[in-house]
Amino acid sequence: MNLAKHLTDTELSAKILRHAVPKMSELNIPVTPDNYSVWYEYFRGVNLDLKRAIDGLLSNKVAFTAEVNAGLHSNFIQEKSPEIIENVQVETQLLINGLMSKLSKMSHGTERFSQTLNEFQTDIKSAPDPETLTRLIDTLADEVSEVVNSNQEMEKSLIVMSDEVQSLKSEMENLNLVAMTDQLTSLHNRRAFDEEVLEHLQRYKMDAVNSSLLIIDIDKFKNFNDTHGHVIGDKVLAYIALALKQGVRGEDFVARYGGEEFVVLLPDTDHTGALVVAEQLRSRIAEKKLTVGKDKKLSLGAITVSIGIATLGHDDDRETYFVRADEALYRAKSSGRNCVKG
Ligand code: GH3
Ligand code: MG
Ligand code: MG
Repeated sequence: MNLAKHLTDTELSAKILRHAVPKMSELNIPVTPDNYSVWYEYFRGVNLDLKRAIDGLLSNKVAFTAEVNAGLHSNFIQEKSPEIIENVQVETQLLINGLMSKLSKMSHGTERFSQTLNEFQTDIKSAPDPETLTRLIDTLADEVSEVVNSNQEMEKSLIVMSDEVQSLKSEMENLNLVAMTDQLTSLHNRRAFDEEVLEHLQRYKMDAVNSSLLIIDIDKFKNFNDTHGHVIGDKVLAYIALALKQGVRGEDFVARYGGEEFVVLLPDTDHTGALVVAEQLRSRIAEKKLTVGKDKKLSLGAITVSIGIATLGHDDDRETYFVRADEALYRAKSSGRNCVKG
């Protein structure tokens, strides 16, 4: 089934929700953001590998255990396409917001209704009536109190539902944080950096706020890995990440761009200022002699970095801004490494 035809994004996500959630509960699959993104994709019908895999599981009547669910998520969602996660997040967020406002209106409505019914019940009970009428009124009162009861039940389940939606929403926010964070170093990742650059461009164009960019690349890191192994290499990456984070101001933005390359965005900083920051970072890293092991016996020598700088100019877009810093980095590498160019 392909639900995507002729529908707006919100209609489509609502439609997928109506298919996915009942199917998931039929199969006893918890509606977590990860699982939901799998079934969202399944009902969207565009990811054919995922569809084939799930159809296979369904026709073989395989149970959707936590392991199976996690496997589907990591094989078809996480690894294949980070955009899918983003789409599900954005669309589900929209849907949840709509649902939340509808729920809060509904809650108010039923509360008022209960109140009216309560008042009506008090009125008819206090009216002086002949015997038969009293019986009728008793019956009516019973009915009314039943309605009041079921309304109170409904209100309770609306509140529970609204709590569930709230926690789903905060799980979504966590998911968003995970999608923007580099696992090894806990720094921002490249996606977060791409967004931050856009903000710098915007602030520069709208409010003339300066921006400088540093690209920091570890020198001869391949040799280092070959000598000491990847596990120690990874520790060095985490150490450099910390050194960068601690070497800049709170409002500066530090990210791991990929591999052994880091980027730092300095808001409100001109070229001279950026040179000072970069030189401080470079010397701070180069001066530290790294050691490993229990008694810090094994010396790793010094790790050095090369840094390229660019400062945002009128003709820049995100591409040219990055390329200029990258070219400066290349110059730093070719003039002997462990230096800053810009
Ligand atoms: P250069 O000074 O020219 O930058 O030399 P280099 O060896 O640092 O550069 P090159 O681009 O040739 O190699 C980068 C190396 O970084 C390759 C790989 O061994 C290492 N590396 C990249 N990502 C990781 C990682 O996540 N963990 C570890 N341990 N090493 C990584
Ligand atoms: Mg590199
Ligand atoms: Mg390198």
